[in-house]
Amino acid sequence: MKAVIFFGPKEIRLMDVPVPRPGPGEVLLKIGAALTCGTDFKAYRQGHKVLLGDPPSPFGHELAGTVVESGAGAEAFTAGMRAVAANSAPCDRCFFCRRAQTPLCDHLKLLNGAYAQYLLVPAHIVKHNLHPLDAGMDLRVAALAEPLACALHAVDAMSVERGERIAILGAGNMSLLLLSALKARGACVLVMGRGPRRLELARKAGADETASILETDPRKASRKWTEGVGPDCVFEAVGRADAWETALSMARKGGRVCLFGGCASGARVEVDAHRVHYEQLTLRGVFHHTPEYFRRAVELLSKSGVPADLLIEGQIALEEVPEYFRKMQDRSPLKTAVVPA
Ligand SMILES: [Zn+2]
Ligand SMILES: [Zn+2]
Repeated sequence: MKAVIFFGPKEIRLMDVPVPRPGPGEVLLKIGAALTCGTDFKAYRQGHKVLLGDPPSPFGHELAGTVVESGAGAEAFTAGMRAVAANSAPCDRCFFCRRAQTPLCDHLKLLNGAYAQYLLVPAHIVKHNLHPLDAGMDLRVAALAEPLACALHAVDAMSVERGERIAILGAGNMSLLLLSALKARGACVLVMGRGPRRLELARKAGADETASILETDPRKASRKWTEGVGPDCVFEAVGRADAWETALSMARKGGRVCLFGGCASGARVEVDAHRVHYEQLTLRGVFHHTPEYFRRAVELLSKSGVPADLLIEGQIALEEVPEYFRKMQDRSPLKTAVVPA
């Protein structure tokens, strides 16, 4: 089969590799659609130990497809069934899994290999995070389940309530998914980002207000939007130290800050300790998803609860993946569906 393999920063190649056979508990999927993701671009540019381990590594992690064959114990997944898989699952055994903090699982090994014709889904993912799909479900839309699950996790972790005024810093793909999750909870949302095109998309996707950080100071704009008070909760969806600092400066007294965008290893952020204490700020890091959020994401997508057509802007063949990453590496494209022949 054809598969895109990551060899190191800016080095991915289309290779011929054997089609894997499923062992006990495993399921072989024929990929129907894989989505490009900002994390894949980050990994492409600079490598990504957490995501990809030691190269050479299979590449791509947002996917949906059709079951080809299942191993002993996974017979519930029959050939021809359409399904979506998450890129990880808890081990059930470690300290963190036993305390229901599964994103912190000591054995969280991320599944990659979505940019390929076939993908072997390991037994622990089959057990927790492989879901059958309705026949009518578009596989490109279903493949949004993984990033959407991360967004649902974040919004839940911050206990967002109906009517709260929430600011999202950043207007990328994750920001639009956070926006969907926040609107589903009845929040009022301000999206702040750079490009006018992204902000327009955010408005189409339901943002109550948008502001360009190129034209206005994010703190001032978010204060103005809230009659001088400041947002109840701010979601940082950029993943840079300076954006974390901006997000911290935006929250109102007693407000919450969701530190959602992952910074590079070694990044340091200055925190106004006086303000955190006397203004009772809550700072919360949120990473990844859990089986419960993945299940909810699949459900929300099946009810068309996400404006997928705004997020997925195009489609390419598997053979085009290396060239696409080379060409788009310095831009921040929306999602593109990779559809293998
Ligand atoms: Zn992703
Ligand atoms: Zn674990």
